[in-house]
Amino acid sequence: MLKDLMTTTLPFNLIRRRGLMMVLSSPSGAGKTTLSRRLLAADDEISLSVSVTTRAPRAGEVNGRDYTFIDATDFNLLVNRDQLLESAKVFGNYYGTPRGPVEDSLAQGRDVLFDIDWQGTQQLAEKARDDLVSIFILPPSWHELERRLFSRAQDDPSEINRRMAKASDEMSHWAEYDYVIVNRNLDQSVEAIRSILLSERLKRRRQIGLSEFVSGLQAGR
Ligand code: 5GP
Repeated sequence: MLKDLMTTTLPFNLIRRRGLMMVLSSPSGAGKTTLSRRLLAADDEISLSVSVTTRAPRAGEVNGRDYTFIDATDFNLLVNRDQLLESAKVFGNYYGTPRGPVEDSLAQGRDVLFDIDWQGTQQLAEKARDDLVSIFILPPSWHELERRLFSRAQDDPSEINRRMAKASDEMSHWAEYDYVIVNRNLDQSVEAIRSILLSERLKRRRQIGLSEFVSGLQAGR
């Protein structure tokens, strides 16, 4: 339905759109990965920025889909060659966003979704504030966050404890984001994110060629 609204509201063939960068951040266990997957499945104009990381793959993770898994030497090479748009150390591992695929997507008027932390979000904001839309996902309660982290059980117990300790640190950055969603209900949170995306796409500055379009209207074309 949102898709219908987009096509009836925006004459995309006449008004090209500038792609935007949508960031989702949250403490581990707030449901961000599920929300990203649902959004990507529901909207074919946005694609995921696949990060590089020095962290070891978890069970079920696919190289090139969830992350590109690399070692510290290759990571440093990317940093030194300025091939990362942003990078950060999170939980003792290095993470970064390859620059090329993001720039290609934006140039084609496609949106890019980032699952990155607050450090990366700050770096993107410094580089391209106008193209950035940032959303912070909060868990409904501390208890629920704990439950989700333990039931996930993909990390070892000491890693889970470390992440619980880090969660309150991460949550302290909520006020740096454009939007905040408390993830009480998955369907509603997905709808909320899609509504934000729709609104942000309709921002005047992102509709390139709008003045030509209006001139055409005024000229009776
Ligand atoms: P995980 O190891 O659980 O997949 O991710 C740990 C944290 O690193 C999450 O908060 C995730 O959003 C963040 N992260 C993943 N990729 C990147 C990245 O490329 N840059 C930054 N700054 N953070 C990332």
